[in-house]
Amino acid sequence: MLDSVRLRLTLWYTVVLGFVLVSLAVLTYFLYWHNASLRTDSDITQLSEAFITTLNAELADETGPEAVSNAAREAMLEHRFRGTFFVLLDDSGTVQRSSLELPATAKQRESLSADFFSTGTFRSLITVTPPSSELHTIHAGRQGFRALTRTLPIAGRTYTLVVLQSLHAQYELMEDIRDTFLWAIPIALLLASLGGYFLARKSLAPISAMANQARGMGAADLHRRLSVANERDELGQLAQTFNQLLDRLEASFEQQRRFMADASHELRTPVAILRGEAEVTLSKPERSPGEYRETLAILREESQRLAHVIEDLFTLARADAGQFPLTLRDAYLDELASETLVRARSLALSKNITLIPTIEANLPIHADEALLGRMLLNLLDNAIKYSPPGSTVELACRRNGDSYVVSVSDNGSGIPAELQPRIFERFFRADKARSRSEGETGGAGLGLSIARWIVEAHRGQLVLTRSDASGSTFTVTLPAGPRA
Ligand code: ADP
Repeated sequence: MLDSVRLRLTLWYTVVLGFVLVSLAVLTYFLYWHNASLRTDSDITQLSEAFITTLNAELADETGPEAVSNAAREAMLEHRFRGTFFVLLDDSGTVQRSSLELPATAKQRESLSADFFSTGTFRSLITVTPPSSELHTIHAGRQGFRALTRTLPIAGRTYTLVVLQSLHAQYELMEDIRDTFLWAIPIALLLASLGGYFLARKSLAPISAMANQARGMGAADLHRRLSVANERDELGQLAQTFNQLLDRLEASFEQQRRFMADASHELRTPVAILRGEAEVTLSKPERSPGEYRETLAILREESQRLAHVIEDLFTLARADAGQFPLTLRDAYLDELASETLVRARSLALSKNITLIPTIEANLPIHADEALLGRMLLNLLDNAIKYSPPGSTVELACRRNGDSYVVSVSDNGSGIPAELQPRIFERFFRADKARSRSEGETGGAGLGLSIARWIVEAHRGQLVLTRSDASGSTFTVTLPAGPRA
């Protein structure tokens, strides 16, 4: 049940509110109690003052014990209040006068029994030393009293006045307050948690709606998007972020789909040629050895092209998945460039193209030699493929500060300006018909994509720096190794 955010929110909310309400109630209760006690103390003190004033007035000039007792009785009669008792004791601790002897309502007397003045509880009050006064809270019978004890010097003798104020009313008030809290807090909590639950349900409803919408989405309908109620609030932002993720997924699915379509297209052509050649040759029962040789040569050529495309596709698929481990070693870029030139020589010779190396010596580099060689060969291959017979192709390598600059320039007819931004795309060929007719080396449009990936994997850059009627130049920048 606690797996629901709605319930957890409500529970937390109720617990916090409960804590706040209970703390508030406890605080209120004690503040109230404290204030009521202060008021009682002040009342009882004032009452004792008034009593003493009346007593003195009643006494006038008489000072005998009898006169004191009578004056006390008059004062007690005058200051007779509900819940208040006066007791006057002489210096031997004997009760001279007490409110209990006065005619009082039965109810008032019932709160104190006549023998109360001989109890230890009461006796402990009258140990006060003159001329101070003391306040105590005591328990007698079924209720509590606030007691003020004062010493009272009259005509050389020290009397003790005890004023007792019943705390019954105060207790009752506190009980009422406590009872009110006891039912009001649970009801407040119940109402608040119900309200909280409905609020949580209402605020979280868009999330459930989003979950339902998202549940219905599959690879086939990646174009669908979550509806955004309010794009400025948190849930709107969540929906927007999710939609942006869908945008990226859709783009990547589309890219993947196009890659698959292009790849199968590229594979279909050589396979069709293989099958066509074989079928034509087999259609006659007998052929001359020369004809067989010719067919086999075509089959070999096409299967080489097929193997090449498959290898390129495999490289890109692994690169995309981040699973093409680079085998980095210390090497020399100048040596690598010279070796690649040797590998490109036969292709250049077949078109009577002169390869011109302009390579600085001593260019140490930490790189994957096989991949860098493949990248250079791709660029040289292209330069030779797209140059007219008898022209020149230059490979230049030099250090420029902290990097190496490698450029491959040719005297071909260049790439049309509007197509230049697209030549690094997969399967892109500026002139499909021309590439296909190039024979064995007519590529699938993957060479530059792979070259760029290799350069970037070495934290470098590959750009087309010149392409016009006079030819093209591809420039690679790579981080240089330490100078030897
Ligand atoms: P391909 O396998 O077709 O050579 P690439 O990815 O290597 O594929 O090149 C993409 C396209 O860029 C080529 O089809 C070609 O049209 C163009 N291109 C690449 N290099 C050159 C170049 N040196 N001169 C002219 N066009 C070029």
